[in-house]
Amino acid sequence: MKLAVQSELFRQIPSVDDVMRLPGISALAALSGHGPAVDAARAVLSRLRQEIASHLLNEEGLTLALSTLPKAVEKQLRDSVRYSLQSVINATGVILHTNLGRSPLSDAAIDHIRETATTYSNLEFDLIAGERGKRDVHVDRLFAQLLQENVIGNHAANVSTIVVNNNAAAVLLALNTIAEGGEVIVSRGELVEIGGSFRIPDVMAKSSAILREVGTTNRTRIADYEGAISDRTRLLLRVHRSNFEISGFTEEASTQDLVRLARDRGIPLVEDLGSGALFDLHSVGIKSERGVLDSLRLGVDLVTYSGDKLLGGPQAGLISGEPQLVERLRSNPMFRALRVDKLVYAALEATLLAYIRGDHDSIPALRMMRLSKDEIGRRAEALKSQINSSKLQLDIVDGESLLGGGAAPSSVLPTRLLALVCTGLSADELADRLRKSDHPIIVRVDQGRVMLDLRTVFPDEDGLVASALELAAL
Ligand SMILES: *Cc1c(COP(=O)(O)O)cnc(C)c1O
Repeated sequence: MKLAVQSELFRQIPSVDDVMRLPGISALAALSGHGPAVDAARAVLSRLRQEIASHLLNEEGLTLALSTLPKAVEKQLRDSVRYSLQSVINATGVILHTNLGRSPLSDAAIDHIRETATTYSNLEFDLIAGERGKRDVHVDRLFAQLLQENVIGNHAANVSTIVVNNNAAAVLLALNTIAEGGEVIVSRGELVEIGGSFRIPDVMAKSSAILREVGTTNRTRIADYEGAISDRTRLLLRVHRSNFEISGFTEEASTQDLVRLARDRGIPLVEDLGSGALFDLHSVGIKSERGVLDSLRLGVDLVTYSGDKLLGGPQAGLISGEPQLVERLRSNPMFRALRVDKLVYAALEATLLAYIRGDHDSIPALRMMRLSKDEIGRRAEALKSQINSSKLQLDIVDGESLLGGGAAPSSVLPTRLLALVCTGLSADELADRLRKSDHPIIVRVDQGRVMLDLRTVFPDEDGLVASALELAAL
């Protein structure tokens, strides 16, 4: 396109004032406010100028665009006031998907948030004494109930728990409180990076503790820890490897040996569990993960874990264990900066009460874990029978769902997958259309097929998935 032609196109673009005088637009401005409407008009005009500059619009294209200006401004305005954070359908089969918000909250959690957050609450007010209280009490007693009774027997310990923003904050607070200026001994096989830039050596540096690495990547013995203990040692740290496994010629110190060593030397042992299940994972056939209770029973002094991983609650970091250590963490000024708000306490309290009632199925992530392969297969069959498209070929095949959220990579659950092929569309194109549908659907693509795992789809979303599939195949 010649420059002269281009400048002629630029000249045809109306001013913002002109656009605002168009009949459709003034009605729009009356409805949504003059300011937002002007912003929308400006954005649309600026997009047109960019398209001309990058030769994406010719004379004909511009004429068409100008004739539909009010519509474009209206759409821009709608998009600008639309929520960015929105509900999506997770058909990946990854139950605790960090990119998709990890654990969905239970109805009880949402109800409790609504009950307590839309009015004033006793967040930090002791209703019996009529004076200032602590926000932790609302969940500490529930954690104690869940953990304490079960730990007693092995060593009659009390268990306290405090809540911070997430598990990264929990690790930071524990290290800073117990080990600031001193050394923390960690196995080289556990110096992990968890997604989203949580790296043990970096967190250690920010906590002002000094990392003392022992052992090798694949083998660390208890003697390695023992040999590294000095008068500078403040803490022994064990970290769950979360997103990878070491196999082959490997060795690691047992937690029992670490507990014994820590007790002998009078040094606290802290374990970053990552996921931290509060229920028996064996009940869903997962044997490779240890829960919070397992660690406390073995005598680990403090365990840190996330609220929105295997626990199935809101984003939070929990630190449970020896009351005196927990009290030290609580009096660290850093705790004040990492504390959570009333919404999180409300959601946590409701989630923990479900555990206490034994009502695991009311917690969505737990319910999904407990779904049988047959049940998922039956839903897949029902969904398949709803689809009436000559372009879609649907098969139902065996597959695996993942716990995700940093549970051991081998923590998989057998499932049935809907495998899809669409005439005229590649698997990636079909996945793209599903992701961009009105209610976005996130899927896996495997060997040229789109794979849907209904384990992570809420049953009342099955119908939406069926209609989105038909629409995407059109
Ligand atoms: C997930 C995980 C973390 C980070 O937890 P957040 O709650 O996301 O901050 C830290 N350590 C381990 C071992 C983890 O698995």
